[in-house]
Amino acid sequence: MLLQSLKRNGRIQSLNSRLLIKLNSQNSNNINTQQQFKRSYCDRIKSDNNNKNEPSLNSTSVSNLSIATRQQLYMIDSNSPGSPFFLPHGTRIFNKLIKFMKLQQEKQGFTEVISPLIFKKDLWEKSGHWENYKEDMFKVESNDLSKLHEDEQNTIFGLKPMNCPGHCLIFDRFTRSHNELPVRFSDWSSLHRNEASGALTGLTRVRRFHQDDGHIFCTNEQIGDEISKTLKLIKLCYNTFGFKDNNYKMMLSTRPEESYIGNLEDWNKAEDQLREVLDLNAGEGNWLVRDGDGAFYGPKIDILLTDNFGKEHQVATIQLDFQLPKRFELKYQDANDSLSTPILIHRAIFGSVERFFALLIDHYNGKWPFWLSPRQAVIIPINQSHVEFANGRLSELKGEQINYEFDKPSNLTGYNFHIDIDSRNETVGFRTKDAIQKGYNYIILVGDKEVEADKLAIRSRDDRKIKVMESSEILKMFKSLEDSYN
Ligand SMILES: [Zn+2]
Repeated sequence: MLLQSLKRNGRIQSLNSRLLIKLNSQNSNNINTQQQFKRSYCDRIKSDNNNKNEPSLNSTSVSNLSIATRQQLYMIDSNSPGSPFFLPHGTRIFNKLIKFMKLQQEKQGFTEVISPLIFKKDLWEKSGHWENYKEDMFKVESNDLSKLHEDEQNTIFGLKPMNCPGHCLIFDRFTRSHNELPVRFSDWSSLHRNEASGALTGLTRVRRFHQDDGHIFCTNEQIGDEISKTLKLIKLCYNTFGFKDNNYKMMLSTRPEESYIGNLEDWNKAEDQLREVLDLNAGEGNWLVRDGDGAFYGPKIDILLTDNFGKEHQVATIQLDFQLPKRFELKYQDANDSLSTPILIHRAIFGSVERFFALLIDHYNGKWPFWLSPRQAVIIPINQSHVEFANGRLSELKGEQINYEFDKPSNLTGYNFHIDIDSRNETVGFRTKDAIQKGYNYIILVGDKEVEADKLAIRSRDDRKIKVMESSEILKMFKSLEDSYN
């Protein structure tokens, strides 16, 4: 349905026709329906679940599941349906994704916050979730009510499905001046949404997930610059993961014809800024419009990413919000010393980290690039007499961050590579094949010749050609691969 509204040139907007639409600018009573609320605040990670017309990631594909199983990346257990367990090697990838994004976001001026997982019911009433999204939330109650006040407002909590209300509380706690805007908060909290049990699948249809969530509180004039920075970050991020510019498309969703809040002037100004920014970043004519498909509280930009198999996935989203700051009565002191309401921008680059993870499994087909790989190299001593030498090289190759002096603290910065040793009593052929199966990027062999020359024989996952190198040269190569995101 959404895609039907697209025209080939992507520019089907008619501002004049929109001006004819009768406006009901401040009346949100009949428009703030549950459906719209879900479609807007919650749609960015739910398109796989709810909208059958949206392209979706088939994480149940045999290849995705078999790679995850073979490499022991994550598991699902009936004791907590829809909440993935990341296994040690999956956790390495997950943490690397977060580390990568934290650094990039900091460059854009984001500061990370840690906010509560449960909030009292009245907060969710204020944000509109209790009225419109209750069935999709988990209610939290104490078993021992004597520890709590007895009225319902103080005994019933909701497990958060998103971070925005919590970030509004942080913004509101301090007096804000226009000089400090934009204020940008990022948050890596786990979020919970009560998806139907029948729909739960792998990493894409889940109840518990994480977002690279960020909220920007800014003035109307700052919208363009903030969106532009976000689009640049999206490009930088996707290029780093090997997606070319033509692997993703940007789509502007504009004001719904009837059901929206806020005044027309704000909407037009905001949409004009988004168009300008899209022209600047994607190039004129290189982005599409979903006419009338914006959230009821503001226009948005969605990014669709095409994977190696031609499947499209909705990942990043940038949503303007005129509504939530009003609900929370957020204010800042403007240049004229009066109090103004900031605009809120919700944005995520990965979207759901779990879903992006699943997408990457497909995208790389299990062949993780070295920098992201949970198994970067394995050392195979040919027989037991080579184990001691191999262990010595292992500690060198792991990098300086992991030092083996147990009574000294490890460095906070530096390199830390995931290198294993396989000294099982199996043939070299068997262990090499096993290493390739598990996805090690490099296989390092140690025999008599290597011990004698104090060198290592190394081959990559995809190339049988063996090179003889000193361990210092290999370490240098590993550092260079990580530095260049290869
Ligand atoms: Zn948000």
